[in-house]
Amino acid sequence: MDAVRVGVVGFSWGCWKCSESVQCVVGPYRYGDNEIPLGDPAQTLAREILLQDGKTEVAALLVRKHHRDGSEGELASHCGSCGAVQGNFYVQNEALSRLIDADGHIETLDLIADGECDEAAWKDASPEYGDGVGMIYF
Ligand SMILES: [Zn+2]
Repeated sequence: MDAVRVGVVGFSWGCWKCSESVQCVVGPYRYGDNEIPLGDPAQTLAREILLQDGKTEVAALLVRKHHRDGSEGELASHCGSCGAVQGNFYVQNEALSRLIDADGHIETLDLIADGECDEAAWKDASPEYGDGVGMIYF
């Protein structure tokens, strides 16, 4: 099967809780596409690509949040200073508004990692085939 070249895109902002800079992960991005798949399968792939590319510090902060009842939530970016979760909804909204402001140029987001996966792994991450929750289109 052909390998799919995948970048992981994100941006930095100030943590809502402690104001320290946080590298937020938006998701994986297949080069040439104009969409970023969202949701847990996509974040799982993003995490794998981060590890593949040696971005262990970012990967270590893209972890499951814990709910008050002890259950585990989806993978989300966390602050390296205070540990606060950076809500996926807010991260995705911020990415979308940055893309809109930049007329859809993906370069407005940081390319945090670069790697590849097989086609089956890409399909798992994509809501068209897997159980992802949606896309950011730009
Ligand atoms: Zn913080």
